[in-house]
Amino acid sequence: MTRISISNSPQLLIDLHTDALYEYVCGRKDITQRSDKGHLDFPRMKEGGVNGQVFAVWVSPTELKPGEYRDFVFKGADAFDQVCARCVDTVAPVRTPDEFRQVVASGRIAAILGVEGGHALEGNVENLDRFHERGVRVLTVTWSNSNELGDSSSDENKPHNGLSSLGRQAVRRMNELGMIIDVSHSSDRTVFDILDASLSPVIASHSGIRARRDFNRNLTDEQIRAIGAQGGVIGVVFLPYFLREPEENATVEDVLDCIDHICQLVGPDHAGLGSDFDGFGGALRGLEDVTKMGAIGAGLRNRGFSDRDIAKISGLNFLRVWDAVAARSGRSPQPVD
Ligand SMILES: [Zn+2]
Repeated sequence: MTRISISNSPQLLIDLHTDALYEYVCGRKDITQRSDKGHLDFPRMKEGGVNGQVFAVWVSPTELKPGEYRDFVFKGADAFDQVCARCVDTVAPVRTPDEFRQVVASGRIAAILGVEGGHALEGNVENLDRFHERGVRVLTVTWSNSNELGDSSSDENKPHNGLSSLGRQAVRRMNELGMIIDVSHSSDRTVFDILDASLSPVIASHSGIRARRDFNRNLTDEQIRAIGAQGGVIGVVFLPYFLREPEENATVEDVLDCIDHICQLVGPDHAGLGSDFDGFGGALRGLEDVTKMGAIGAGLRNRGFSDRDIAKISGLNFLRVWDAVAARSGRSPQPVD
């Protein structure tokens, strides 16, 4: 497929994780309309210059029961298609890096569908194929609950001591399908096991930095080095509690500090943005909602980052990972109708 140059397009600004689609599915917010609810909707994304977004279908392990998880993903995928169809001039669903480039070059938002929580597979790796057919391109292996695939950072019990054998199978199948593996929420051991099992680079879609804030959802320097060594990218989260204690004192400067930390450790090729917008209450000072995204590029420029490095952090790094993941897959791209 011909690769469309994005050199004349608006600068990439890609966010690796939002829960806004879940809010839409639950009928709590119409993300096609501008509002002051939460952090994100399409009009505010345009204003903030975001042109790439992973929309996660979060699968609640408590509000839903086993047996209902998989179908909720399909419900979320239907909603994803529906909101994109309602706003064809603004946003388009994309399933390949080339489609991503085409949509961004057309001035629209490229929307990528993700699933947060491997329990959505209901213990059956074949459901990865069903999700992939339905357009899912990112899977967060665990949420705050451990599941059949592996242990969560938030679970004290750690029933698998890392990734399970089913989890290893799932990782390899995601490699084959060209699905991006997301290690955010995974336990320390699970992260290393995923890196060991995966032939493709991975992302941490919304994580903080443990050296700056000692919290189990944040990545250690050893994990950052390992993710970087495999060519992956870390989307720095905007969730105040992950960034600073007390959280009331967290600001956009903490996000910049986390980006700085990753760059000092492994260089500018492995940092990215993972807001978790609409996945938390309250707001981060200086990044109160998606309209403020420009504060990151401006802040990095103030800190002496080059335009090239800012462009990498703002989106090129993620796109590089997706290119590598897609290249590894045995399938030809499936164009969107
Ligand atoms: Zn999350």
